[in-house]
Parts: sequence; structure tokens; C-alpha cells
Amino acid sequence: MPRHNNPISRKVISLLSGGFFQRILAGNSFSRYKEVFDQAGYAIMLIDDKTNRFIKVNRAACELFGYTVEELYGMTPLDLSTEPEEDRVILGQKPENAIVRPSRRKDGKIIIVKIQTRHSERFHVSLVSDVTEEYRIRSTLELNEERLREAQRIGRFGWWEYRPKTNMYFGSEEISRIFNDEVSNLSFTYQDNISYTHPEDRSYLISAIQDANEKKKESYTLTYRIITPKGNVKAITVNSNAKYDENGRLLYRYGTCQDITETQRIMDDLIAARRQAEESDRLKTTFLANFSHEIRTPLNAMLGFLNILTSMNTTEAEKDEMVKLIEINSQRLLRLINDMIDMSRIESNSMEIKYTNFEINGFIRSMASSLNYELETAGKKNLKITAVVDKNKKAVYQYIDELRLSQIFSNLVSNAIKFTEGGEIKYGYRISKSENRYTITYFVSDTGQGIEPYRLDDIFLPFVQYWNEDVPKVQGAGLGLAICKRLTELMKGRIWVESLPGKGSSFLFSFSTPVMIE
Ligand code: ADP
Repeated sequence: MPRHNNPISRKVISLLSGGFFQRILAGNSFSRYKEVFDQAGYAIMLIDDKTNRFIKVNRAACELFGYTVEELYGMTPLDLSTEPEEDRVILGQKPENAIVRPSRRKDGKIIIVKIQTRHSERFHVSLVSDVTEEYRIRSTLELNEERLREAQRIGRFGWWEYRPKTNMYFGSEEISRIFNDEVSNLSFTYQDNISYTHPEDRSYLISAIQDANEKKKESYTLTYRIITPKGNVKAITVNSNAKYDENGRLLYRYGTCQDITETQRIMDDLIAARRQAEESDRLKTTFLANFSHEIRTPLNAMLGFLNILTSMNTTEAEKDEMVKLIEINSQRLLRLINDMIDMSRIESNSMEIKYTNFEINGFIRSMASSLNYELETAGKKNLKITAVVDKNKKAVYQYIDELRLSQIFSNLVSNAIKFTEGGEIKYGYRISKSENRYTITYFVSDTGQGIEPYRLDDIFLPFVQYWNEDVPKVQGAGLGLAICKRLTELMKGRIWVESLPGKGSSFLFSFSTPVMIE
């Protein structure tokens, strides 16, 4: 492919455009140089500055454009142009640097030509060569390169290379986007690569690379996390291939790197959603089993007691006992149904909260009698219940729904009674003050069986129940704590638990609503 900017073409140009050539045209030594002109491998075209017509063209020029010498002499460079009149860059005129543009041959075929021009006093000389093929190949290459770049960008996927000799990694545009969040000149050392890696994945990466080097692995794939300088955590999959010399020394590593953060996130979400669906399915099945048991047991008991009650030979003392048992069982049934109703109200966002400035000290004390009654009916003789209030404060108010507050206490104390055989249950509150603001932390603590640490997160979920194998299963449908959690949250608060297995549990809750103290 002829090139105008090589030394020979430069020489031709200067020869043609210099005063020497003008002398040739004037007739001096014409025959000596006519041969050079005619035999030149380039199309050479001289254009008159005044008329803008071709005044001299060589054979290569005729072949290139398909015209005879005579035809070309009648023409101007504009006649070879493919562009609209006003846009035409006149062949042979400015700019001085080589230009590449389309031209039309006599047979109508469009060719891409490269034109290099030199100006003289009366005319200018253009060296023209056909670069159609070169242009086509370059355009195809550029298009392919662009497509590849786009594919890499869309697929978040780049190539990289590592040379142990220089200890440097370098890679494509996309690699810098993955590692630096933007396109930049990315090249880094092995140590830099490690420092990009998420601290928790570093030892994994180092040992995988060491292992690959020791075993002279031809290729391997790793998935790990990196942290970009902007602090973004990304999951990447790196494929690495190695080239070794004949002595088994590593020459270079190369491969691909793909940002799979999004894919990973979708996968994680899918797995979590599936787990959640399975879990809720399992919980609902368990709940249904429990629920039917919880309904059937007190109903059966009540029917049985009613039978005995109506039988002829039941004594008065036995009748009193039966009535008491029927009452306990109907309470149990009512509580279960209330829990169900509350839970569905909360879930459907129709639980109404009625705030008032509610006095806490009196409220805590007033609960004692009903809680002691519950303890009594549970038959736990070695257990006592103590109310804890701040005796130094005459009255303590919190802006709260009293009904819901008492419901939370009642659920927690019922649980404490259920899961504690002996010792003490304390319930009440503590006040703390910071930056002139009071916070009330309510609590119910017991000396019961406690909760294993790994269960602590789950117990606030609906239908979750646990019981120890050495302790018989107690009543309940697994809704109590879920209701407490939802109610505290509805009143801008939170609930949490501290527990030591075998020692006891403390359930604590507080609200961010205003507190007033007298
Ligand atoms: P239920 O009491 O109906 O089982 P809850 O939601 O009230 O449902 O409680 C869920 C689980 O939390 C219980 O099954 C039990 O394992 C645990 N739990 C709750 N309170 C206590 C407590 N005071 N001591 C020990 N475990 C408790």
C-alpha cells in the first residue's frame, strides 16, 4: 500500500512542487523527468491555481480515476468529488496535511483516496493514492473494537495481563471501570491487586494464586470481592491463564475479569426469597398444627368438664373445681383468638394506636394482682412476681397507648411464667437521662430456662416457638413475641432480649415518645 508520508513520497512531492519541476514544465530537461512523472507508482496531479483545472496528470492518476489524460485535462478536482458542492474539499487544495476522503471514478465507483498536497507559485501538486481497502479494513477493525468495548461494558467484563518480570497488571478499559469505578489508566502491582481485595477474601486469593503457581496450573477461576477506592464492594469472577517458558518459568498470566455484583445480588435475593418462602411455609404448617392443637385441647377439656358437671353423682366441691377449670380453659382459648385477631390487624395495618399521657407508676402496681392470679392458676408455687418502679418519682408519664403497653407486659409476663419453674419474675421500668432527656426502659425478667444465643434473633418472628427437650412443650401458638415486637414498633419503639440459657431471660423495650416526670 503506497504511503505519502514515507521518505520517498516526500521526496517526490518536493521534487514536483519545487522550482525544479517548474523548470521541467517550462521545457528544461523535460524528457528526463517525464519518465519519472509517468512511471511513478502514485497518482500525481498538478492543478492550476487560477483555473483550478488539472494541467498535468500521470498514468497512475488516469488508472485511479478511470479517465483518459485528455478527459482529466477538461476537468477540475470538484468533478471527482462525491460530496455536495458546498461541502467539497477541493482535491488538491487545502488542507496541506494528507486528507482521506471519498472520490468518484468515471465508472461511478466510489473509492477512498488519500491526498497529500504541496503548493507552488502557480499550481499545486497532489499525490493521490487509493486507500479504499485499507480504509475498509480499518473501519471494520474500529467497528469490531467498538463492539468489543461495548460488549465488555455491557457485560462488565474486561481482559487483563500480568507479567512477573515487571510485577505489573494492566488491562482493558472495563477492568479500570471495575477496579476504579471509572475509566482510567489502570496498571498495578501484585501488592496493589491484593490491597484492592476485600480483607476477608485476601488470604483466599493469595493462597489460590500461590497454589496455581506451585502446581503450574494452566488456568483457574476465582470468585471474590474487591473494594474500590470509592469504597464500593464488588464481587468479581477472575479467569486466569498462564504461559510458561520451556523451563517451566511463568512468562505471563492473562485472562478475564467480570463484575458479578449485580448477578450475585439477584442470586442472593432469590436464595433469600426462596428460603423465606420455605420458612414461612414451614412456619405456617407448624402454626396450623399448633393452632388446631391449641383450640382443640381447651375445647375438649371444657366439654369433658361439662359432662362431669352435669353428671348426677358430682359433689359440690368437684363442681366448683370443674367450673374453675372451664374458666381457665376458656381464658386460654380467648387469649389465643385475641392473639390471632391482633396479629391479623397488625399485618393488615389496621391496628389503631391511641396515645395519651399515661401514668406508669400506678399502672405497673395495678398489674400485680392480675399477674399474681395468672401465676396462681399456672400452679407455679416456687415462683414470685415483683413489680419494679422508681420509688423516688411521684408520677411518671409517657405518651403512649396504655392498652397496648399492658398487652406487651401481659404477653411477656405470661411467657416468663410459662418458661420459669422457680425463682422470681420482675417487671417494671428504669429511667435514664441523657442530654436533659428521659428514657424509660421497660423490662420483664425471669430466672427461667433462658434462650440459646442462636435463637435470639428468631423468637420475635411470628409462629416461631422453641422448647427444650427436657422441658415439656408449653402452650402457645408462637405469636406472643411477634405481637410485642409489632406493637412496640407501632409506638416508635424497639424490643430486645438478653438471656443466659439455664439462668433466665430479660425482655426489654422502650419508646421514643415523650416522657414527663413529677
Ligand atoms: P409462644 O410463647 O406461643 O411459644 P412467643 O412468640 O411468645 O410464642 O415465644 C416464642 C418463643 O420464644 C417461645 O417458644 C420460647 O422458646 C421463647 N421464649 C419466649 N419468652 C421466653 C422466656 N421468658 N424464657 C424462655 N424462652 C422464651
